[in-house]
Amino acid sequence: MAEPIITLLENWDETHTLTRDEAIAILELPDEQLPQLIETAYVLRTKYKGKKVSIQLLTNVRSGNCSQNCAYCAQSCESEAPIEKYRRVSDEKLYGDNDLVDEKHLARHCIGLSGIRFTDAEIEDLAARIRKMKKNDTQICCSIGFLTEKQAQLLKDAGLNRINHNLNTSRSFYPNICSTHTYEQRIQNIRMLKGIGFEMCCGGIIGMGESHGDVADMLMDIREIHPESVPINFLLPIEGTRLANRDISGLTPEYCLKVLCLARLMVPTSDIRCAAGREVYFKGIEPTLFKVVDSIFASGYLTAGGQGIDDTLRMIQEAGFTGELESTDEE
Ligand code: SF4
Repeated sequence: MAEPIITLLENWDETHTLTRDEAIAILELPDEQLPQLIETAYVLRTKYKGKKVSIQLLTNVRSGNCSQNCAYCAQSCESEAPIEKYRRVSDEKLYGDNDLVDEKHLARHCIGLSGIRFTDAEIEDLAARIRKMKKNDTQICCSIGFLTEKQAQLLKDAGLNRINHNLNTSRSFYPNICSTHTYEQRIQNIRMLKGIGFEMCCGGIIGMGESHGDVADMLMDIREIHPESVPINFLLPIEGTRLANRDISGLTPEYCLKVLCLARLMVPTSDIRCAAGREVYFKGIEPTLFKVVDSIFASGYLTAGGQGIDDTLRMIQEAGFTGELESTDEE
């Protein structure tokens, strides 16, 4: 299979829709053929995203005590990870982070809430906070469980731009990761949110024990959803979670790059974000990483004055790319 795939990559035709077998063959490409794969991804990356790297800042608005049992998550009902748990982050932290996004001209403020169901009163409270944060027209994305249509509309009316709802893995592997809700519920939620007019952020987690076929299946479903942003996370096993002892030896930098390249080939116009695991699996190879992805989370931003954000920007510049300095709607 490697010969035809390399030929396909050398003569990449954007109108070609990768089949499941071709996607798997890309994930199984011999490492010595990785440079060609990266070059093909780089052409698409520069065509649609130029040399910009957009930086997102993440605030955990609600932490812990989730009713769901997602195997990778420190906030799940089965997790014994010693995390900080709270129902609502302080205003000081939330608005302080939002100001930092504005001051540093970052691309977007991402806010995450643990849990899967919310009362209307909780959503109204969140909507009020979003309204305040939109005063400088900050781009805001919210990672939140399953909303009713009424709740989604409330957040839309408050100015929320984007919602993150990941598929996480393939439909067939999903029951191994979570048994308290289904893959289909996720798909239905995404359809409803798209119908309301939200931009979507939809990606997955690599390294949970899934096969290459599962990665291909997940990316094919993401291709169908066609979200504005595709965050790819690489598992960081957390002590106290069901995946604490998961063997991650397969997450070599080469394999991780192949996954990201495949995502770029399958949804070339979307933001491809290297999310969790970037600092671990891509340490020292950021210039290569940025040839494929155009979006990352800021790291270490908690240090005084957003020093970590300055370091992130410097790292992007040293790699020959440009940190996105203005939020835009038309990505
Ligand atoms: S629903 Fe979200 S917060 Fe809850 S366990 Fe799953 S990933 Fe964690």
